[in-house]
Amino acid sequence: MSSAALGQFTDSFAGEIVRPGDAGYDAARAVWNGSIDRRPALVVRPTGTDDVVTALRFAREQDLVVAVRCGGHSIPGLSTCDDGIVIDLSRISGVEVDPERRTARVGGGSLLAGLDAAAQAHGLVCPVGVVSHTGVAGLTLGGGMGRLQQKLGLTIDSLLAVDVVTADGRVVRASEDENPELFWGMRGAGANFGIVTSFQFRLHPFDGQITHGFVRYPLERAVELAALFRDLVADGPDDLWASFGIELAADAPGRARAFVSVHHIGSEFEAERDLAGLRAFGTPLEDSVERKEYLATQGMLDAPMDWGQRFAMKSCFLGSMPDELVGRWVEQIPEVPDGVEGGYSVWPWGRAIAAVGEDDTAFTGRDAAFWAATELFWADPELDDACRAWARAATADMERYAIVGRYVNDVVEVGADVARTIYGDAKYDRLRALKQAWDPDNVFRLNQNIRP
Ligand SMILES: Cc1cc2nc3c(=O)[nH]c(=O)nc-3n(C[C@H](O)[C@H](O)[C@H](O)COP(=O)(O)OP(=O)(O)OC[C@H]3O[C@@H](n4cnc5c(N)ncnc54)[C@H](O)[C@@H]3O)c2cc1C
Repeated sequence: MSSAALGQFTDSFAGEIVRPGDAGYDAARAVWNGSIDRRPALVVRPTGTDDVVTALRFAREQDLVVAVRCGGHSIPGLSTCDDGIVIDLSRISGVEVDPERRTARVGGGSLLAGLDAAAQAHGLVCPVGVVSHTGVAGLTLGGGMGRLQQKLGLTIDSLLAVDVVTADGRVVRASEDENPELFWGMRGAGANFGIVTSFQFRLHPFDGQITHGFVRYPLERAVELAALFRDLVADGPDDLWASFGIELAADAPGRARAFVSVHHIGSEFEAERDLAGLRAFGTPLEDSVERKEYLATQGMLDAPMDWGQRFAMKSCFLGSMPDELVGRWVEQIPEVPDGVEGGYSVWPWGRAIAAVGEDDTAFTGRDAAFWAATELFWADPELDDACRAWARAATADMERYAIVGRYVNDVVEVGADVARTIYGDAKYDRLRALKQAWDPDNVFRLNQNIRP
């Protein structure tokens, strides 16, 4: 990077530029996953679309690797790089709600917290994820799972349009009517095709009153509790989302427990009625299910899942979750190294997610019965290899029950064939044609990459 070119860029760029040696450099290069430690040549924070175009043009002229950042939560650290440029959209973070039309325009650097709060201020909601410091962009461009998904589907199912800066510096809109093939690809493989400066979402009426909490039981009851979970999600209404898991408690390392968590958006009466089976299951070790505000629940995991943790994760979409598989989890959980938190987590699939056709968006895996993951958190770098090996082995076991497709936002491996596993062969070929049309030089390659 020549100093003359850098000088010219600095003069034409209205936002902030942070370089090695600057006071804010270490904070600017940090990403959520504490085990990622990369040193970009510069981190730039555009103030608007013109700045994004200027930064991208500069990066291309200087042949710099481009990383695009919204919330910085990419688990494999795809929003940072060594020696290249990070285009950090955090200053393009406004959320404007149109209550009449029930839509929101959301800046490409916004966090879920901003969208949640702005929509709820008008008695509306967009279905998003469960940790409110996650970026709207990365979450949406991959799909977007959350506790409203049984009723409202994935985040992309509420997406109306995106404004995108393309690899050649054009600003285009993608929606069902404009550039529809690009819009198809943005919904599941979006990080491959450009820098989104603005999202437009459909919002849904929602009074924000929920019944939510966890019931926890000794590990010995895990197989029975999983059966109850399956019944709850099969028989319950779309208003009820539930998850099942086996976790290692923070305060009692090595002591595993089974849990079901529930999130019911109907009235208190309906929630009690729909949770009667759970209430009858027997006295839990802990029961935190109660009436709450939706926004309180959306922020509940912000502190436990704060920045800087070391984290390993693997997931897949299950066609079924038989007792035999849950039994394997019970056997495997004690093998997690001491001092590590996390475990298994299973969410129901189907309902509003399956109401959208498998081929209607690039997202792959709508026909699954469940999404299942292993997630581990730890602090000691010495445990990195052991934790990653456990997550790998434990998920490999689940894969016997997996269907085609993986949730791109959970995939930690990067490499030649990874994207094919995520999208399956047919969709991968369609995405490849789209990549050839919009990014033939693979400028946007820090993602689960579709090779042009
Ligand atoms: C604590 C935590 C909780 C999570 N909870 C959920 C959940 O409940 N539901 C769920 O579905 N997922 C969840 N995830 C996964 C999450 O969706 C992905 O990690 C997602 O990629 C994060 O988005 P981000 O904007 O924060 O990440 P970033 O690291 O900023 O970006 C992720 C990817 O998107 C690209 N990108 C970022 N901004 C843009 C943009 N404006 N235009 C184009 N490309 C862009 C980046 O280049 C990168 O490839 C969670 C992850 C973490 C770490």
